[in-house]
Amino acid sequence: MATRIQLTEDQTNQTNLRLTPRYSQHIGKEVYLFDSVFNGNTYIHVRKLLNNKIPTKDGISLTLQRCNELFISLSYLDSAVNLMELNQETFYRRHLGGNWHVSVESGFKCVDIRQFWLPEGASEMRATRKGVSLTFQQYKELRNGLSVIDSFVPELRDVVPCYADPTHDVTSCSECTPSKPV
Ligand SMILES: [Zn+2]
Repeated sequence: MATRIQLTEDQTNQTNLRLTPRYSQHIGKEVYLFDSVFNGNTYIHVRKLLNNKIPTKDGISLTLQRCNELFISLSYLDSAVNLMELNQETFYRRHLGGNWHVSVESGFKCVDIRQFWLPEGASEMRATRKGVSLTFQQYKELRNGLSVIDSFVPELRDVVPCYADPTHDVTSCSECTPSKPV
């Protein structure tokens, strides 16, 4: 059930998030799925709201393309979560763009959406604190939300990924190859 989030000007200033979401879905433990528009760009948030309405810095915001990649990965994530719930060995990871990855991995009972970075001179990516770890129950609620959010945020239907451009070069695309290993 979508709920409206209403913010006063002062509350908005606390997080620099000007919220007039067209869609908002509680996915559990104070975490919500909602949209925002900043400088004409739409972002999809998975973020904790204080008192069910005040955005906190605890969460993530995805561009439309990255959200679309997350959407594309849902059926794979479902399979990975199912395997985990059956105590089977599981590893799934998908690059959403800009070093953001979604992953499900044995040993960690969560769906993790997180930005990584490649330190100068390093060959392996490292996780940053920018991310959310969702319980499987939260993931299922997120999934439900993502399956209807485009009715409220129709520009999600118009996403044309960078790699759909015939001149796209994956190695020079900052979205697809944000950091180059040495
Ligand atoms: Zn690209």
